[in-house]
Amino acid sequence: MPAIYLDHAATTPLDERVFAAMEPYLRGSVGNPASRQHAWGQRAAAAIERARQQIATVLAADPREIVFTSGATEANNLALLGLAASPAYAERRRIVTVRTEHRAVLDPCAALEQRGYEVLRLPVRADGTVDPDAIARALDDRTLVVSAMAANNETGVCHDLAAIADLCRERGVLFHCDATQALGHVTADAWPDADLLSLSAHKVHGPMGVGVLYVRRRGPRVRLKPILHGGGHQRGLRSGTLPVAQIVGLGEACALAHDLAAAEVPRLETLRTELERRLLDAIPGTLIHGRDAPRAAHIANVFLPGTTAEARMQALPELAMATSSACSSATLQPSYVLRAMGLDDSVIAGSLRLSIGRTTTPEDVAAAAAMLASTG
Ligand code: PMP
Repeated sequence: MPAIYLDHAATTPLDERVFAAMEPYLRGSVGNPASRQHAWGQRAAAAIERARQQIATVLAADPREIVFTSGATEANNLALLGLAASPAYAERRRIVTVRTEHRAVLDPCAALEQRGYEVLRLPVRADGTVDPDAIARALDDRTLVVSAMAANNETGVCHDLAAIADLCRERGVLFHCDATQALGHVTADAWPDADLLSLSAHKVHGPMGVGVLYVRRRGPRVRLKPILHGGGHQRGLRSGTLPVAQIVGLGEACALAHDLAAAEVPRLETLRTELERRLLDAIPGTLIHGRDAPRAAHIANVFLPGTTAEARMQALPELAMATSSACSSATLQPSYVLRAMGLDDSVIAGSLRLSIGRTTTPEDVAAAAAMLASTG
């Protein structure tokens, strides 16, 4: 049986080009980028600044708007908790988000709720998108931020981010976007114009343990307070020695994902459509969640009748896939994302997330569909 990795939404294999960029910083003596007095530190600092510039180019941002973090979880926490900690927004006590956000957004929101914030978790429509009118109704002059993701990690579904960004701007509310699953998987026109934006390297063929929070400096200038206290690195916003190799890998991975997107997004879309077509043909009653919504190109979330998703995964250990988000699958709770789309628990129990990536071939897709059709 072939081994096929269709769990790219959980994590992606490191791209060889990314590894090659990182390698010099994994060997021998690499200075601390904060040690500006000697050549080792200066070389490390220069590598960090190159990566910062790469990310800034990808985001059409100023390098000073880039804050390196340990990943998207920390980036989301810094965005939400950092805004709440800022005296500039002391009067703003409402947070608007969506029920299908990643736990790395929902949990900091819940923590703020415990501290007296009002958190509105908006429902989604059957296709997984939030109604921009519902966002408009939720905004008031005490609203601090809207946090809405660019592409859902379980379904790939994309909200109307342009409408959300416009509404936030008109009403003077900040817009945070968790774009972790979107980079390299959506076309440029679907990219969010957010005031704060989170990314993670390991979702785009980069290393684990490193990510970015973009923080707008002008029009409006976002006032953020740190959530980690220490040596005052990164303009005091995120203390901690910068992991040079990881950050070099992050810069390279994001630049590659961005540069390849024009060719890779349509290629992934074709592969995903082919995978779905084969499943629809081979397994009568197959449902594709979020099919009518705009979707990131790499994720198919499908209900396959016949047996449960768990049973299929057990029968096919060499076909990597997921039942719900990898982060919460240890709990074996029915996916709250699919529930929010109005699906009942029996459909959710039969639903699998198949996520393709840069190394996925048409042969992989054909074999995966055949393997799935042979179970159940
Ligand atoms: N947000 C989304 C949408 C994700 O898919 C993930 C990864 N599961 C995260 C945040 C967390 O990212 P990280 O692993 O970098 O903390």
